[in-house]
Amino acid sequence: MTDDRLRMTPGPTEVPESVRQAMGKPTPNPDLEPEFFERYRSLTDKLERVYRAGDETGGDDRDVVVLGGEGILGLEAAIASLVGPGDRVLCLSNGLYGDGFSDFVENYGGEAEISEVPWREPLDGNVVADVLDRHGEFDVATMVHCETPTGSLNELEGILDVLADHDVLSIVDAVSSLGGTPVPTGKIDVCIGASQKCLSAPPGLATCAVSDRAWERMEAVDNPSLYADLEPWRTAADEEWFPYTHLSSNLYGLDAAVDLLLEEGLEDVFARHEDAAKRCRERATELGLEPYPTDETACSPTVTALSVEGRATELQQAVLEDHDILLATGLGELEDDILRIGHMGHNARVERVERTMDAIADVLG
Ligand SMILES: *Cc1c(COP(=O)(O)O)cnc(C)c1O
Repeated sequence: MTDDRLRMTPGPTEVPESVRQAMGKPTPNPDLEPEFFERYRSLTDKLERVYRAGDETGGDDRDVVVLGGEGILGLEAAIASLVGPGDRVLCLSNGLYGDGFSDFVENYGGEAEISEVPWREPLDGNVVADVLDRHGEFDVATMVHCETPTGSLNELEGILDVLADHDVLSIVDAVSSLGGTPVPTGKIDVCIGASQKCLSAPPGLATCAVSDRAWERMEAVDNPSLYADLEPWRTAADEEWFPYTHLSSNLYGLDAAVDLLLEEGLEDVFARHEDAAKRCRERATELGLEPYPTDETACSPTVTALSVEGRATELQQAVLEDHDILLATGLGELEDDILRIGHMGHNARVERVERTMDAIADVLG
């Protein structure tokens, strides 16, 4: 395998040199040396800035915690910590990850009600208000900000307002949007991110921004899981005791990755994602390829999903073999009908999109 390969996948994304170097540095013992806790607290402070960047929801402060595990651990921990037996959970869905939340809910004894809209369309606040009126009370609602497999970004603010009016706690999977586009963190009770998407660090860490309301609910929920329990993390950094030995090298890598974002400025980072996505869609249109979401305003700035009816695997292979560029196909039933170009994190650059689209044009032509 050469290392010139361009990996335009929607995560894991390219890890910049300074992040890889930070991971190779000696680290203090995460259980015993206070310096480690200082570094962890400094990282969560910086992550709070990433979570709040461009968020105009005027929310109160959220506590950010970093868990040692892939993004899925964040999703599971949120459900395990907030949902107990018999709790009613509204799972809003317009895609695979939206549906997937209901599996976690049922594993932890909750009752999941899936409210699904067609996958080519965005989630809709009116539908949510209607479901809440017709189906009675819910304790928690789950939703996905960017549905990575279909390239849609859901506008969540209106939905989060409706949920707040009904006193329903919100859990949002922002794994593939955090650090690439503004997230309405101030209206979300548990907002989950991960290291390997727009943050451009290697897979291995999940981040959660948690509201006071959510911390309070966790005290009342009897969570059978130990590893997937958020509650101890509320005080872990201050009391200098983590529930398990933390992933020190990964944390140092994420710290360097977040430094890059803050040095560049989140506003510029977000603009870079918008520019890359816009150029990707323009080039696709020139090639006669349509984005999967029906409405362009619902297309994510972090990943573009193109409808390619039955040709995704073949195109993916040709682009890899002829141009050494890795793309992703769709997932599940849509595997062969969607070709995905990740322009997230370090890869959200117009020149990389041009190179990728030149390669797609070549294999199509
Ligand atoms: C990548 C991703 C996750 C993390 O899950 P993996 O499939 O294990 O990478 C969770 N949610 C979304 C929306 C993602 O894009």
